[in-house]
Amino acid sequence: MSKKWRLTDRTRTLLTLELAIVLPAAALMGFSIWNLKHIQRDKAVEAAIQRDFQYVLKIAEKKSWHQANELITPVRKEFPNPDDGPQIKAKLEHVLLAHPEYAYAALYDKKNNLLVTRMQPGRDHDQAFCEFTQEDINMLASWLPSEASSTVKHLRKMKEEESWGLYGGWTLRANQHAYWNVAYFIPEGVAPDRVALGMVAFDEEYLRKTFFPALVKDVLSSKSTVLKADPNLPVMMIHAPRDSTPWVASADWDGGEPEEERRFADVFPDLILAMKYQGTTIADIGNRFLRYNYIVLGALSILMVGGIWLTYRNVSREMTLARVKSDFVANVSHELRTPLALIRLYAETLELGRLKDKEKYQEYFRIIREESERLTALINNILDFSRIEAGRKEYEFQETNLAELVHSTLESYRFQIQQNGFAFEENISPDIPPVKVDREAIARSLLNLVNNALKYSRDRKFIGVSLYRSNSSINLEVRDSGIGIPANEQEKIFEKFYRCGDPLVHNVKGSGLGLSLVRHIARAHGGDVLVESEPEKGSKFTIALPFGPTSQAGSATA
Ligand code: ADP
Repeated sequence: MSKKWRLTDRTRTLLTLELAIVLPAAALMGFSIWNLKHIQRDKAVEAAIQRDFQYVLKIAEKKSWHQANELITPVRKEFPNPDDGPQIKAKLEHVLLAHPEYAYAALYDKKNNLLVTRMQPGRDHDQAFCEFTQEDINMLASWLPSEASSTVKHLRKMKEEESWGLYGGWTLRANQHAYWNVAYFIPEGVAPDRVALGMVAFDEEYLRKTFFPALVKDVLSSKSTVLKADPNLPVMMIHAPRDSTPWVASADWDGGEPEEERRFADVFPDLILAMKYQGTTIADIGNRFLRYNYIVLGALSILMVGGIWLTYRNVSREMTLARVKSDFVANVSHELRTPLALIRLYAETLELGRLKDKEKYQEYFRIIREESERLTALINNILDFSRIEAGRKEYEFQETNLAELVHSTLESYRFQIQQNGFAFEENISPDIPPVKVDREAIARSLLNLVNNALKYSRDRKFIGVSLYRSNSSINLEVRDSGIGIPANEQEKIFEKFYRCGDPLVHNVKGSGLGLSLVRHIARAHGGDVLVESEPEKGSKFTIALPFGPTSQAGSATA
């Protein structure tokens, strides 16, 4: 019944482990890999960055309108109207002097076929400027008569304060792209049915060196854009269509192909605003993101698998321990019961007083003594073990003549050894210095080892005990010619409750505590216990105790 329950417990624990940890962990890992593959296939990271770039470019275009609007609004207020007659020119000049960012100003009145123009007075002596500006004015003069009416009609439909527009485009000047432009509006005070236009053109140099560099800087450093949390440095430039040479570039522009572009439509037609990252590409960032995530996922997976493995190991260890403990209880009860039954049987026989033979009396007393000794040894082992487990085991170290301790311990056991038909050899070297040990603990260790030699021998019955001094330790050695211990179990036999798989071991009573106590005792003395063994040849256990001034253990609590 209990066996069946244990099995169910184990299965249930393993099932829980699988269902509650392994399956979700595997699902999580699988999902993450699927997700990353998905991101990779859809180029999702790249698309997200491109979306951000387009958003920023759109903001740049909007800002350019607002900033141009701020420049044009005062000009509209100061502008002459067609009824100003001969003062028009002077008024235009006045406007231009107040606003050096314009190359020229012009007023057109269709009714009188009047076109008054004035170039920036401040640059009257700049010959190249005058030449180019004149070209622009000529162009303006050529399209005004045909376009003015529709332009005015269009402006009249717009909201008063925003009713202005801008024509612009590219031309080659001295082999370089130059941006010509003209902003137009209806001068104040012009009757609604009259076709009249006020015009100002931004100076190309002003746009190239002041207006757009400031705009680009403003957009890139703006805290309100999606770029604020970007660890990479976005850079911008403006170029003409069909020519990717920058006309204006942000300070950090480092050349190369732009990643995203936007062609201005509303304010400065035909300008192309382009954007990229400095020193890297969106594709690189996408790859880096994936690589980083795969590495993190890999590391986490390894940790998770490690964790699961550790949990599994601990759970199985705990389960084995639980099983071993219950076996231990069964074993110990059995071990207690046998000597008690014997003691009772022989005591009862003696009590009846029917024995004639004096030798028989002696034998029965001896059996009772031996069995009670066995009981004492077992109980001592169990008590020691429980003290060690509870961390309450205390050792009392005192200067001891080890040779004498070993000899007297063996003497009390000699009879039993020989009675069991064992050849016994005792070698105690005469040069053993006094050492500080817990007498009782050392005697108990020796008895445990000798007792094991008795228990785990078949036909070749031999026990040898030696005490000798090596370089740095005093060695207490117990040899037998018994069943031996397979190499893979030689470390395990020192674990609590562990018993080897040999059938003989299972026929012999034992609790699996003796060697774990011996090791604990040896270590508490600053030494250790070692085993050398070969199956079917025999075993040699050596308790090595350090000696000398540095190795005095004093008093220790386990
Ligand atoms: P117990 O003897 O009560 O089982 P121990 O801790 O003393 O517990 O020993 C643990 C196991 O080590 C034993 O069950 C046995 O399998 C093995 N063992 C110990 N001493 C010897 C030995 N001298 N020869 C062969 N096997 C041994």
